[in-house]
Amino acid sequence: MAGAVRALPARLREISGLLAGRFGRPGICAHETDPVRNLVLTILSQNTTDANRDRAYDRLAKRFPTLPGLASARPPEVEEAIRVGGLARAKAKSILGALARIRAERGGYSLDFLRGMPLPEAREYLTSFPGVGVKTANILLLFSFGMPAFPVDTHVLRVTKRLGLVPGTATLAKAALSLEPHVGTGDHGPLHLNLIRLGRELCRPRNPLCAECPLLTVCPEGARNMKGKGRGPTPVRNALPGVPRSSKNGGHA
Ligand code: SF4
Repeated sequence: MAGAVRALPARLREISGLLAGRFGRPGICAHETDPVRNLVLTILSQNTTDANRDRAYDRLAKRFPTLPGLASARPPEVEEAIRVGGLARAKAKSILGALARIRAERGGYSLDFLRGMPLPEAREYLTSFPGVGVKTANILLLFSFGMPAFPVDTHVLRVTKRLGLVPGTATLAKAALSLEPHVGTGDHGPLHLNLIRLGRELCRPRNPLCAECPLLTVCPEGARNMKGKGRGPTPVRNALPGVPRSSKNGGHA
């Protein structure tokens, strides 16, 4: 396994390069998004589609244009504004709880103090909020602060399992924490975004389009899927020894 761990940075670098060759290298602009608003947005993103998350956020921002205004809202008002995103009661509670705590601890609605913290400490602080998991915290740390955090959502988890980068039993949090230190400097955002795009467009939960995938030559699952399709087994380079195979659908519906 030690050899496998040593091979991980090289595999991730190669995968990132292949994805960039197909999709380009998406830029991320750290500090572009206000961290507290990003926290609200990421809480809204749980268990819903991007479209419904955005609808919920837009309605919330329209109803409560300022953070102090949102923080002083009654829970039913917040629930009503975000209902389109689902789990409205739990999300309203998480949002109002987070704002109240930030205000109480920091004297205002700012998370800028996280900027100077080591990544693990900043993540620990954020995940101490109810409703904020490793994925949510990493999105915020990456996109608001430009930290080398690696968010793993269901798309990234499915794809990385199929690629044999994480065990088939890995959770979102375990996959994120195991991959994060091995992603190249400056690559956390582009790799995260391109893996999501791959998961949506090609490496879909059912019937992945392996024949069209830029990662076919480095994907054990892709090689298995291509067997018997008239193309013969695809040689896979750099497969990690000792990493269990993922299930057919990567463990996700
Ligand atoms: Fe997914 Fe197939 Fe590409 Fe592997 S080769 S990443 S299974 S689409």
